[in-house]
Amino acid sequence: MALVTSSLPFLPYGRQAIDETDVAAVVEALRSDLLTTGPRVEAFERALAERLGVRHVIAVSNGTAALHAAYHAVGVGSGDTVVVPAITFLATANAARFLDAEARFADVGADDGLLAADLLERALADGGPVRAVAPVHLTGRPVDLDGVAAVARAHGAAVIEDACHALGATYRGAPIGACSRSDAAVLSFHPVKHVTTGEGGAIATNDDTIARRARRFRSHGMVHDAASLESPSPGPWYYEQQELGYNYRITDLQCALGSSQLRRLDDFLARRRALAARYDTLLAEVPHVRPIARGPEGAESAWHLYAVLIDFAAVGRTRGEVMLALRERGIGSQVHYIPVPAQPYYRRRGADPARFPGALRYYERTLSLPLFPALRDDDPDRVVAALAAVLAEGADHSR
Ligand SMILES: *Cc1c(COP(=O)(O)O)cnc(C)c1O
Repeated sequence: MALVTSSLPFLPYGRQAIDETDVAAVVEALRSDLLTTGPRVEAFERALAERLGVRHVIAVSNGTAALHAAYHAVGVGSGDTVVVPAITFLATANAARFLDAEARFADVGADDGLLAADLLERALADGGPVRAVAPVHLTGRPVDLDGVAAVARAHGAAVIEDACHALGATYRGAPIGACSRSDAAVLSFHPVKHVTTGEGGAIATNDDTIARRARRFRSHGMVHDAASLESPSPGPWYYEQQELGYNYRITDLQCALGSSQLRRLDDFLARRRALAARYDTLLAEVPHVRPIARGPEGAESAWHLYAVLIDFAAVGRTRGEVMLALRERGIGSQVHYIPVPAQPYYRRRGADPARFPGALRYYERTLSLPLFPALRDDDPDRVVAALAAVLAEGADHSR
């Protein structure tokens, strides 16, 4: 194998897009009176709520905290079960464990990696009652929310959308995060996501009770406002801890960045869409590679990731070899995700990945290629040329 060291910049699979307006917004916040729990947190929450078309947004320290708070707010507790797809980031399942609930896995489509109504139906038939279901809009493609929510409701389970990949996606004309078919949706503002606050997350909901519980959970289980107190207030210092909560607050510095980034979201989305379309065109010419399936009718992806399915057996190289060879050409790639029931922690709790053939089939073929707004117009050409060359080397090997 030829060792090619590229002189072009290394392309990670994803990265943030920070400009001078973002920097100025953070600097301004840094000079202000309140660095946390101040007006910039509320402003970010309002801007997000408006963008999503939802009643309440509660911004928190990260997406994992948002999942924890959302599960708690819909009543997930000790001994309960939350159904999560077998292909997702660990946090979707772990947040159930934080509450001493079990994560029960549902299989996903082999070609799209998404939960669907029939797969959820099977997971729900696979044990006792389920408190909540957490569909994941993997790579930014909304799952079939109508189908999934109908099945969940028929079983008395709440629906918490893990929308960490899907800010800017739409389902049947409504933004993901509008929660028209779910109890709540959860976002992340990690730097690889659409909009970043460094670390950050949010819960979106139309339900006043879920919103109140999530807010209380974010800050130690404390309440201050007179209307929420259990006892009459003896004075202005008074607060009550009404349950066990955490410090999941986000700072004003972070929310200043978040609001500034949110103003750029449409540009980010347009850029991601255009780059994805270019990838689609270029990849049509490359043997043994195809884009992952598009997802359900009427759903518009937010293009968090550009993932392909590669028939590595036909190529004659392992995925590890392909990733290393791409890296030598200055191109990063990643696998989203290892099936969660295959993790040692969940195996020790009785999970068996062999029971999720769709997830295993998706996992063995998937690879995420660089996709982020700052990619240049011709970067997809460079990535696909490198991928085609690396895969062709495999064919040479196996001859
Ligand atoms: C990023 C992500 C999370 C967790 O978000 P953090 O902000 O990193 O805690 C949860 N679920 C999915 C699907 C994600 O991509």
